[in-house]
Amino acid sequence: MPKIIISIDRTKSPQDQPIAMHNRWHPDIPAVVTMRPGETGRIECVDWTGGQIKNNDSADDVRYIDLTQVHYMSGPIAIEGAQPGDLLVVEILDIGAVQGAEWGFTGIFAKENGGGFLTDFYPEAAKAIWDFNGIYATSRHIPGVKFAGITHPGLIGCAPSAELLAQWNEREAELKQQDPNRVPPLAELPNEKGALVGKLTGQAAQKAAREGARTIPPRENGGNCDIKNLSRGAKAYFPVFIEGANLSMGDIHFSQGDGEISFCGAIEMAGWIDIRVDIIKDGVKKYGIINPLFESGPVEPHYCEYLIFEGISVDEQGKQLYLDAHVAYRRACLNAIEYLKKFGYTGEQAYIILSTVPVEGRLSGIVDIPNACCTLALPVEVFDRDIRPTAEGPKLIKRGKVAQ
Ligand code: ZN
Repeated sequence: MPKIIISIDRTKSPQDQPIAMHNRWHPDIPAVVTMRPGETGRIECVDWTGGQIKNNDSADDVRYIDLTQVHYMSGPIAIEGAQPGDLLVVEILDIGAVQGAEWGFTGIFAKENGGGFLTDFYPEAAKAIWDFNGIYATSRHIPGVKFAGITHPGLIGCAPSAELLAQWNEREAELKQQDPNRVPPLAELPNEKGALVGKLTGQAAQKAAREGARTIPPRENGGNCDIKNLSRGAKAYFPVFIEGANLSMGDIHFSQGDGEISFCGAIEMAGWIDIRVDIIKDGVKKYGIINPLFESGPVEPHYCEYLIFEGISVDEQGKQLYLDAHVAYRRACLNAIEYLKKFGYTGEQAYIILSTVPVEGRLSGIVDIPNACCTLALPVEVFDRDIRPTAEGPKLIKRGKVAQ
């Protein structure tokens, strides 16, 4: 086991950790530890809600969650010698759950509090609890499904410079202005309420809380990319914007499907990430980098048989849209959910299955006017019965329901 670089006290809240945590992006948040290029270490992380979601059979905690207080990150970690314009190389050596707490959760967020990709169709809060058995996940709320997860950090990246942060805040405020009262909102702007800004105190803390970018979207620094294939053995290359790079991470997912469609759509857990860090001097210019890139790793679940659902850019009212990949992927997801209902899964169970099983989402065609074609490939091996179409038709078996 590598040296523990950042440890978490599971009996304490994110606000009371011995090593300060943060949930905003700001260049002034000081590093809590330093690593040298070539060094290996273990980073422990709380779950993305900092313990707000409990292992029980009610979705009240999801319904009333305080979303200003989420995405607690471990870090920042200063990397010795990293300078703006360098590329920070982060190799994910291994990831796991906290020993003695081998469980996770998936939430469908209420439309008024978070929403999700299909929030107009599933506006009520719901939850599924998962138990881990080594590499496998099963849920008492979704019987008949068992699969090997693809474990990864949802959130990882470097601190922005003051200039980059100002750009983010300006462009996101401009978007929000287009429809300021929309539910769910077009963007989440800086909000002092619920902000945790690491070791900063006094006026410096107030400034960072007032200006700090929220953690929901992925941006040029990485951030909440939610890329399932950033798993064991993957290697990410992040642009460095400030002296020391200030790397932070959290929001570990035991597994997730492409799109993480129910918003809290992965199997969320507390755990640890073993990393090895390195620097490529002046790598941003050398490779023309704007957004991070990564190499996939050698360890991923191996599924062979998929049922692949298509969606095109014609919406639920039959309206024709022009090469709209958002609508096409939504249609693929809704087609898959309706299909799974024929086997006895509720809509919410099916929504969570697509969110958590390592489904492959593809932009299959984006040139065939006027229809974009998106596909969602669901591995059939994760079900205890064959779900492929046959002459006899689907066999309906009641399978309980998720927590609501
Ligand atoms: Zn997450």
